[in-house]
Amino acid sequence: MRGGNMEETAGERTNLAGVQHILLVLSGKGGVGKSTLSTELALALRNAGKRVGILDVDLCGPSIPRMLRVQDSAVHQCDSGWVPVFVGQDKAIALMSIGFLLERPDDAVVWRGPKKNALIKQFVTDVAWGDLDFLIVDTPPGTSDEHISTVEALRPHQLLGAILVTTPQAVSVGDVRRELTFCRKAGLQILGIVENMSGFVCPHCSECTNIFSKGGGEELAKHAGVPFLGCVPLDPQLSQSLEEGRDFIQEFPKSSAFPALTHIAQQI
Ligand code: ADP
Repeated sequence: MRGGNMEETAGERTNLAGVQHILLVLSGKGGVGKSTLSTELALALRNAGKRVGILDVDLCGPSIPRMLRVQDSAVHQCDSGWVPVFVGQDKAIALMSIGFLLERPDDAVVWRGPKKNALIKQFVTDVAWGDLDFLIVDTPPGTSDEHISTVEALRPHQLLGAILVTTPQAVSVGDVRRELTFCRKAGLQILGIVENMSGFVCPHCSECTNIFSKGGGEELAKHAGVPFLGCVPLDPQLSQSLEEGRDFIQEFPKSSAFPALTHIAQQI
């Protein structure tokens, strides 16, 4: 792993003093669009003039560096800690990910819980985040050790909230129910639920097909008494721009997912 002397910087200080809001992005299962939402929310908030950081604590599947086309970057140290990688056309988004610490992009992180927990704590205490309006934290799927460590490390921060991502299917919605229980037990404020991959708008005739059914996320939000933040449709331009590491929010304002993503960003 690159940056092997990271442990030397561990200390009691926290570098989150200049961060206004922390958003934890959670999902019950993988592949529902958690990293996609984290990335696009960051781009949409940046577009709205906010200062944004992303912390990728999906230690076993860090995909955000690739989604933002900075997978070959490396982090380095300064006096106040680890300097995140700055991304976007204007280099305005600060990103920290375990992806930057791996020797090779395909290296697997096969670690037991305590080592993962120590790294998460270091990501919180030792990264020089500077002044940010929002720090978006992309977590692994489920409710594992990593989630408990992340919440424990971030809990001293007053404005900490969770966004839950689901697809419309009952099985994904069921998993998000467990995430809701986790948030409540952990005392986390729930900012709302997002239903992703919610319908496909035909680019030719504009008709919407609900490939994975629709409405499960909204129904769950109503039932649980938490805000529903919106439905993001399946959008081939979105998946393509993520594949190519492009700035979807800047480059595809006419695509079907754009209004939903910007509307969600406006609510948080
Ligand atoms: P997770 O972080 O929950 O594992 P990802 O964000 O990596 O999921 O998304 C899984 C895949 O689905 C990615 O390839 C992404 O490009 C694609 N994807 C996610 N949301 C959408 C969407 N609304 N429209 C099209 N593709 C999407």
